[in-house]
Amino acid sequence: MDEFLKHELTMEQMEYVVQLFNPSMDDYLYVYDLKEDYYRISSHATERFFMKTDHFYNAEREHEKFVYQGDMPLLAEEFARIKSGTIVFHNLHYRWLDKEGKPVWINCRGKVLKDKTGEPVFLIGCINEIGKRQKADNVTGLLGESSLSAYVRQYEGKLPKGFFLRIGVDDFKDINGGLGMEYGDFVLKWLADCISEAIEPGQKAYRLFSDEFMVLDFGSGNRDTAIRFYKNIRKKIDRFIEENGYKTVFTISGGILVNEEIEGTYENVMMFSEYALGEAKMNGKNRCCVFDVEHYKAFLWKKDLTTKLHHAVNHGFEGFEVYFQPIVDAKTYCLKGAEALMRFSMPTGERISPAEFIPLLEETGLIIPAGKWLLNHALSLCGKWQKYIPDFRVNVNLSYVQVMKSQVLKEIMNAIREYGLSPESVGIELTESGYLDSSPHFKKLWEGLKNNGVQVILDDFGTGYSNLHCLGDLEPTYIKIDRSFTAKALNNDYEHNLMVQIIEMGHSLDLEICVEGIETKEELSVMEQFGPDYIQGYLFGKPHGEQDFEQKFILSSSAFSDIPGASVQTAF
Ligand code: C2E
Ligand code: CA
Ligand code: CA
Repeated sequence: MDEFLKHELTMEQMEYVVQLFNPSMDDYLYVYDLKEDYYRISSHATERFFMKTDHFYNAEREHEKFVYQGDMPLLAEEFARIKSGTIVFHNLHYRWLDKEGKPVWINCRGKVLKDKTGEPVFLIGCINEIGKRQKADNVTGLLGESSLSAYVRQYEGKLPKGFFLRIGVDDFKDINGGLGMEYGDFVLKWLADCISEAIEPGQKAYRLFSDEFMVLDFGSGNRDTAIRFYKNIRKKIDRFIEENGYKTVFTISGGILVNEEIEGTYENVMMFSEYALGEAKMNGKNRCCVFDVEHYKAFLWKKDLTTKLHHAVNHGFEGFEVYFQPIVDAKTYCLKGAEALMRFSMPTGERISPAEFIPLLEETGLIIPAGKWLLNHALSLCGKWQKYIPDFRVNVNLSYVQVMKSQVLKEIMNAIREYGLSPESVGIELTESGYLDSSPHFKKLWEGLKNNGVQVILDDFGTGYSNLHCLGDLEPTYIKIDRSFTAKALNNDYEHNLMVQIIEMGHSLDLEICVEGIETKEELSVMEQFGPDYIQGYLFGKPHGEQDFEQKFILSSSAFSDIPGASVQTAF
């Protein structure tokens, strides 16, 4: 029932009450003047949370400063419901930031008070920290995270044989959002009951927060018993859904830790189980995932590398370098140009393979600034080296992310202009991948480059996606046969014949062919029978840093002198 302001309480009076209770409470009382957008909370909140004062105007905006960013949309929706009078009772689990900026789970409850006309005027209520002091959870009746912590810490470092199973409801927000908080609580209560029912001697169940539960087994359970437990709960849920007439259909995911396989501190238990549950959700939900230390290490490493890449991009591309690998004319062995290849080193100096960092740059979109940086760097050097070798060309690789999400054509043409190059001294290497070439972005770029006279090169030919019949439509300047295909052609009759046919077909379509990955003189002599137009491979040179490349290939005329037939260097 709506609560009206019967006694004409003023904000001052309510603020006074908040202050009055301050010394005698661990929890935080608050009152929110919805009309004035003014907020007052027990003053000890300023000692715990990321807030400067215990009262402020612009209350909704000010919340952005101390509410965990990921929970702001949820809170904004709740505020809208409160202010429009849609709800009269506010009950939300979300996160505030503590003094150090770390998220802390809180439960904020409050009553909406309306004036005589039915307009919401005040929200008054109480905030408590979920994990910290509260022992048993009001919704589910299960013990909370603080009890789990106390129990596990007794065994720290030497956990008994058994397992942890962390259970989370998939898309719980949708249940709350679609059917209301109360129904959400009903589901959680029911799930808690069903977990409690399944508990056997040696096992305990806790509610962590929001929609997550932890089952602990110190009764010598193992991986299989944990999986069975999870499946058992899943079966019960299906029954529940049916019995409730499909009012809501939901699933759960699980993260499992086998005690013997982890270093059992409480912090590890929480971190590892969160990771395992996250993996289960990422892999499609409605499943469980057993924690694997090696996967976890790889995940942490990837996270660390992503942070370093972000930092590098934001700090003048520190750690990034451009390497150049020679491309030679297959008939004269003259240097035709180079492929620019990206390199990245950690601040410790550790060199990271492009096979590892390029996919991360793509995932995070950082390939857009990093690729632009490389383009400019490579083209400026191309201009410099053309003073020695006038028809020297530089090839740059483009990722599909740059094609789909950036103004890369404009950037390429700007760079060509800026460094005074002719468009045909720049080659853009693109990988055809079946879907990419049918996208309008790809088509526009491809056509744009060709119309402007830039060389378009179909990269990684022979790696699986290659679509022979596309060659006629795309009309690249030349195609590059990937080194994995070269390796096969050198060792296997079938691939050998295929390579001969591809080169013949390319030539019949008036396309030139570059073969990648020639490492030895023997390979070179086999390859020569195929009649390619260009060669790129370790035999002629590995990728080199700017200065080495300049010394070895631009300023020296004897770079390939030990390769038979390569003594005549007519390029310069
Ligand atoms: P890719 O475009 O196929 O580049 C050729 C790769 O083959 C280079 O590896 C090169 O060092 C290697 N290679 C060339 N000849 C030989 C050889 O004879 N033997 C052996 N074992 N390897 C040879 P790298 O530099 O490790 O680059 C790997 C991949 O990373 C590239 O493959 C490309 O897909 C990507 N990549 C590198 N730089 C960039 C960049 O600036 N932008 C984008 N989008 N991708 C890049
Ligand atoms: Ca390439
Ligand atoms: Ca390749």
